[in-house]
Amino acid sequence: MECKIILRWEMIDMADYTEELEQKLLEAKKEKEEADKRLLDIEIVLGWVSISTLLVFTFVAEFFTMQPWLIVSLLAIGLIIFLIGILNCIKIEQVAGYYECQKCNHKYVPTYWAVLWAPHFNRTRYMECPSCKEKSWQKKVISK
Ligand SMILES: [Zn+2]
Repeated sequence: MECKIILRWEMIDMADYTEELEQKLLEAKKEKEEADKRLLDIEIVLGWVSISTLLVFTFVAEFFTMQPWLIVSLLAIGLIIFLIGILNCIKIEQVAGYYECQKCNHKYVPTYWAVLWAPHFNRTRYMECPSCKEKSWQKKVISK
């Protein structure tokens, strides 16, 4: 008798616990999605800053009279800033959200290498799906 009562209480505890855990997981998922959206917004800003920096440095080096070493230095610095910015944009695109395979709808986080070398149009990239091994134009999605 006593044993049955204890078991019943434990079951109620477990139900509460499961519900609480599900609630926490849902909240964590929501928080990750919000953070990913912010990261993707930052990517746009970083992309524009990188491209603008390269254009401004190129413009200055091209249109102002200066020593050849200064021209080369300006172009090199502009290019380095551009590359650091763009490589970080690609990193954001890799880790924020997921890519969805158009063939089997599998959602996954690709490797940096795969994202770096994939032909792309905006954020849609032509990559091989790790699940079905088919290549398709995969869209960026925020939730899994
Ligand atoms: Zn697939």
